[in-house]
Amino acid sequence: MNTEMYRGRFAPSPTGPLHFGSLVAAAGSYLDACASNGEWLVRMEDVDRPRCRPEYDRAIMLSLEAYGFQWNGSVMRQSDRTKSYQAALDALRGKNLVYPCACSRKEISDSNIAHDGAHIYPGTCAAGLPPGETPRAWRIRVSGQTIRFVDLVQGSLSQDLSKEVGDFVLLRADGCFAYQMAVVVDDAQQGITRIVRGADLLDSTPRQIYLQHCLGVSFPEYAHLPVAVNTTGEKLSKQTRARALDDKNPVPALLAVFEFLEMPSLKGNDTSLDDLWKEAVRHWSLDNVPAVRTILSREMRQDE
Ligand code: GLU
Repeated sequence: MNTEMYRGRFAPSPTGPLHFGSLVAAAGSYLDACASNGEWLVRMEDVDRPRCRPEYDRAIMLSLEAYGFQWNGSVMRQSDRTKSYQAALDALRGKNLVYPCACSRKEISDSNIAHDGAHIYPGTCAAGLPPGETPRAWRIRVSGQTIRFVDLVQGSLSQDLSKEVGDFVLLRADGCFAYQMAVVVDDAQQGITRIVRGADLLDSTPRQIYLQHCLGVSFPEYAHLPVAVNTTGEKLSKQTRARALDDKNPVPALLAVFEFLEMPSLKGNDTSLDDLWKEAVRHWSLDNVPAVRTILSREMRQDE
């Protein structure tokens, strides 16, 4: 039996305000932590500096407060964590698992090896930088690695990293650490035991498990919630004009999230936010969460 204290987290990127899709991930991870009598942390994933904005960081925190979330401890920010990511890269370097890469995006796309539309790195710099080239990024070797795991919502999954991903970037050409690296180092350092998040990140999970293995850190459990998509099948995001949450009226959006996660209907409209959360925690079970949920009404979309 796992006697470890449950610790979950919500890890938004401040590239836009919270929207329905991110509220699903926030609420699902929160309910799961509360129902397990565990802790729930908030981590601001602002590692991708060019895409992140402090005003979105503030807006996300205000929304989390307005929606009645209560987190443990202070909020970690990835922009403060470069030294830890560098230490992890150095450790991998010590094991000869990473190498500098001089290839441009164009060179990689010209190599024409693609899986699901994504270009697989052809390994040009794996045996050493070609003469006269300067390193742009750092990649991790994945040869022969098939990762298998059981997701608590999506079931058994596997990915052949060499065929489907290729040696992937840990430190980008622009000097930012990659999301895959930052998230693994932070989850390990914060002692996260279960990661509940949107299934749009399912495809990243084998890379993260592989990195956990390479860094010798413990493996959290994973539960990937169905992704909220709009009526045209696009994931809700800033790019698809998902409507920002209304901080003044949290109950209807929370009820819509609970419905989306196929929880039994709760009587939210005549209760306080606090009571609504308590009732939701009582009804929460990951076993009832559907793996796929693709129907969402137009109301969730910003008016054109
Ligand atoms: N920061 C990521 C995002 O907002 C989520 C990371 C995670 O939950 O692992 O998409």
